[in-house]
Amino acid sequence: RDLFLGKRYESTAAESNATSSPPAEKFEYQAEVSRLMDLIVNSLYSNKEVFLRELISNASDALDKLRFLSVTEPDLMKDAIDFDIRIQTDKDNGIITITDTGIGMTKPELVDCLGTIAQSGTAKFLKALKDSKGAGADNNLIGQFGVGFYSAFLVADRVVVSTKSPKSDKQYVWEGEVNASSYTIAEETDPEKLIPRGTRLTLHLKRDDKGFAHPERIEKLVKNYSQFVSFPIYTWQEKG
Ligand code: ADP
Ligand code: MG
Repeated sequence: RDLFLGKRYESTAAESNATSSPPAEKFEYQAEVSRLMDLIVNSLYSNKEVFLRELISNASDALDKLRFLSVTEPDLMKDAIDFDIRIQTDKDNGIITITDTGIGMTKPELVDCLGTIAQSGTAKFLKALKDSKGAGADNNLIGQFGVGFYSAFLVADRVVVSTKSPKSDKQYVWEGEVNASSYTIAEETDPEKLIPRGTRLTLHLKRDDKGFAHPERIEKLVKNYSQFVSFPIYTWQEKG
């Protein structure tokens, strides 16, 4: 059911207390990540819409990675699922969901990828942003380096990443909030939220950014980026 995305979320905490699902584990971000998030949110507010380009490019990278790895490890693709990217907007609840059927992340990969700055591109961006002065510099830097996953916090105050790697039996949920120094990881146990493979990102938009959950706005942005993406991107909206 499509509707649970927005409505059901509120009851999750209570539910997981009621059942015997394992508790969420808390992790501290590497100090550089907190700095990067600060910089992104405070310097790039006039370029908020870059979040979509960054998240679509991550989805596309994840699909590329799966295709590449499956050449030598055909088992990774034992689930016959289309390679695609789906973007759903729920304007009533101010939620955008971006789902890919790519390589996903194991639990240690979640910690490595979304809790530290392992990516040289991001580290360089951080340095360049620190060194840069003057208006317009940010725009150039974004073009040069990309700002990555944390750009989600330009528009969202809460981000939920539910991900299933074909290398793991389990699906995990990463959850982070803007301006927080820690994030949580838990096992996904809600059967309605299980995916066979890949990653689903749920952006709970900030009060002033809920306009991004309008399908026309997303479609316009997607049109700009999709020409660089070699997988189909589908957009659809929540039926009110
Ligand atoms: P970059 O894309 O430059 O590596 P990002 O900050 O955009 O940096 O992403 C960090 C890492 O998180 C990626 O390298 C990847 O390993 C992981 N990641 C992000 N999004 C996804 C996704 N949709 N599927 C699988 N892995 C992802
Ligand atoms: Mg990226």
